Amino acid sequence: MSKIELPNKDGFFGNYGGKFVPETLMKALTELESEYNKLKTSTAFQKQIDKDYAEFVGRPSPLYFAERLTKKYKGPKIWLKREDLNHTGAHKINNTIGQIILAKKMGKKRIIAETGAGQHGVATATVAARLGLECHIYMGAEDVDRQSLNVYRIKLLGASVHPVHSGTATLKDALNEAIRDWVTNVEDTYYIIGSVTGPHPYPMIVRDFNSIVGRELKIQAKHHFGKLPNAIIACVGGGSNAMGIFYPFIQNKQVNLYGIEADGRKLEKNKHSATLTKGSPGILHGALSYLIQDKKGQVLPTHSISAGLDYPGVGPEHSYLKDIGRVNYFPVNDEAVLKAFHEVSELEGIIPALETAHAFAALEKISKSYSVKDNIVVNVSGRGDKDISTVAKLEGISLE
Ligand SMILES: *Cc1c(COP(=O)(O)O)cnc(C)c1O
Repeated sequence: MSKIELPNKDGFFGNYGGKFVPETLMKALTELESEYNKLKTSTAFQKQIDKDYAEFVGRPSPLYFAERLTKKYKGPKIWLKREDLNHTGAHKINNTIGQIILAKKMGKKRIIAETGAGQHGVATATVAARLGLECHIYMGAEDVDRQSLNVYRIKLLGASVHPVHSGTATLKDALNEAIRDWVTNVEDTYYIIGSVTGPHPYPMIVRDFNSIVGRELKIQAKHHFGKLPNAIIACVGGGSNAMGIFYPFIQNKQVNLYGIEADGRKLEKNKHSATLTKGSPGILHGALSYLIQDKKGQVLPTHSISAGLDYPGVGPEHSYLKDIGRVNYFPVNDEAVLKAFHEVSELEGIIPALETAHAFAALEKISKSYSVKDNIVVNVSGRGDKDISTVAKLEGISLE
């Protein structure tokens, strides 16, 4: 693979990406891109981010040897990149920390964001509170019900939550609403997108901020086992935790990369969110990428046990990496995810987020291709505290 920096100047990763937005947003995207390109090379900006990562997020996150999981699968050594230990409990704050500094530098007074599981809403409300900026979070009404704890966390942090009832009342509808707000208030408002999705330059910006995960892993792998990992596994919703850990390894072709999607319900054919595995290219939320749609290009309802993966789109760079065969994407179903959720909790003393449990559920299949001499890393994108009541309800356990 030749070393070409992507996206290109028009925001494309191969055929995917771009800026498919209303005229009113073009100026804001261009302004964002030029501000980001200026700051990216500024030492003062990098210093500020490194300081925030260390002192507010708690980075670097450890690379942890999962001894009992390794024993169970009797194959490669299994290591965990512990993004669940970050402040606010997931990888999402890596991105919001960076984007809020951009917003401040651009003189914006008002912050908006969409959220699915509520994690991005919490990560955004957290950094907005810290910098004293007004903050509005759009959330599908369905997710407001599923994630009531995160809704209250966002409010405690001083932000407003706006439930969205249109469509399937999930993440894609929250995104539509956030874009609508941005179009109306573009002068004083900064829109913090929560994944490597949306129009250029967002997929690049969110990837760059999350890449701290892969950069740390490179150093930690060398320290712990003296070489690069043989494989890295991450769950894929929009794709930001996966892009963050994969990106610094894209040119290291000896490192196999696995992106795990949500296959949803085993026995119901159309109840899934496996965009790359089962979708086709189309335009959603300002970018061309794989999409779950019907023959006429209408977006279809999706399903996943985890709110954070319940999204019909995916970041354009993943679509590119799928087509060139650099990343191996496959889905796992809800049933396997619940099993993995319990397994990791009981074997490692770590309750993973349901999103993350998708990555763990893929271990059974993936570990068979590796030997005891190999090292594989699971990106633990977040902790499972937010999902405990969902799991209890599914299993008929009352927490009242
Ligand atoms: C939001 C979220 C995801 C999915 O988002 P990506 O952009 O695909 O990373 C995965 N894991 C956790 C814990 C999340 O909060």
